Amino acid sequence: MKRIDAASKAVALATKGFMPEAEGDALYGAACLACDELPGLPMVEVGTYCGRSTVWLGAAAKSKKTVLFTVDHHSGSEENQQGWEWFDESLVDSQTNRLNTLPTFIQTMNQAQLGDVVVPIVAESQLASYQFASEIAFCFIDGGHGKVPTQIDYAGWAPKVAKSGYLAIHDVFIDSRDGGQAPHDFIYRPALDSGKFIEVLSAGSLRVLKRNN
Ligand code: SAH
Ligand code: MG
Repeated sequence: MKRIDAASKAVALATKGFMPEAEGDALYGAACLACDELPGLPMVEVGTYCGRSTVWLGAAAKSKKTVLFTVDHHSGSEENQQGWEWFDESLVDSQTNRLNTLPTFIQTMNQAQLGDVVVPIVAESQLASYQFASEIAFCFIDGGHGKVPTQIDYAGWAPKVAKSGYLAIHDVFIDSRDGGQAPHDFIYRPALDSGKFIEVLSAGSLRVLKRNN
């Protein structure tokens, strides 16, 4: 599989977020393959946070001469809020006292020199999916991890994946002792059970499915 360049990789690894190195590398390889197979179609990421996974996907977009849209309202998921497990005080905006990951994300894109191929969509995922008119070569879902947000993301984004395109899902845990079940129960399973997708890659909690009809 194709590998990300060392400079971009260093930026990804230095960026806050939740994408382990081996899964990021797998994501990069799968995204490159998708762009080769579906030239001209964009990629979409749901759940930007500080841009860690975005570096792998954006670098793939750059090398394959396409674009990546990355969707996030930038105010964090439930588990990113104060009092929860994944709260990071340094990402709180001192003016509003609310979480805001947009400034850090912009910094990450500048460091990785990906500003010309990564298009941020600062919005609710559902709104963005309703308005998104293009078919997608590679769609990576890593947004809200509860029941409702995962159901909304599956309903909104899976139909936009082009035929022979790819749907990648993060934080898919078969065993509930390893993590929350919503991405598994409300994205991964329904996609396979629909008969429209088959699994082509698994790395850590990353699953990549290919649309076959
Ligand atoms: N992909 C990132 C991690 C994403 S964390 C990485 O690899 O590091 C999940 C992100 O989804 C958070 O930044 C949160 O703000 C965003 N999110 C959660 N629910 C959302 C929704 N309904 N609409 C838009 N973004 C959402
Ligand atoms: Mg994740």
